[in-house]
Amino acid sequence: MQDLTDLYQSVILDHNRRPRNYKVLPTANRVGTGNNPLCGDEVTVYVELDGDRIKDLSFQGSGCAISQASASLMTLNLKGKTVDEAEAIYADIHKLVTTGKVDEDNFSDLAALAGVHQFPARIKCATLSWHAALNAAKGDAKPATTEAPGD
Ligand code: ZN
Repeated sequence: MQDLTDLYQSVILDHNRRPRNYKVLPTANRVGTGNNPLCGDEVTVYVELDGDRIKDLSFQGSGCAISQASASLMTLNLKGKTVDEAEAIYADIHKLVTTGKVDEDNFSDLAALAGVHQFPARIKCATLSWHAALNAAKGDAKPATTEAPGD
C-alpha cells in the first residue's frame, strides 16, 4: 500500500503552496460555493460566463492540500471551456479520483489527482471545487460583487 506521500505529489504540493487564480474575480457573473464538513474544506468559485463559455474563473478557499490544489488545477483547466466541455472534463475527473484511471489524451497536470482514489475519504476534497464551478456556471446569474451599479 502506498502512503500519503504518494498522494501529495509535487504537483499537488506546488498548487497548494502557490494556488493559481486565487482571488476574487471582479468580472464574475456567477458564484458557486462548496464545503466539505468531513474535512473542513471550503471553496468559493467565481465564474465569468460569456454565453455558454467560461471566459474566466477564480477561487478562494481554505482546507486541505488536495482541496486547494484541485481548485487551482480546476481554474486552469476550465478556463475558456464551454459548460458542456466543463461537464465532460468533470466526468473524467470524477472517474480519475474514484478509479485512479488516467485518460492520457485528456490529462497532464490533472493526473496528479489520480492518487486520491486510494483514499475514498478524500474524493470529496478533490471534487468540491469542480462541483462549485459547475453549479456556478449552470446557475442563475448573480451581479458581479465588486461592480458599481450602473446609471
Ligand atoms: Zn480535504
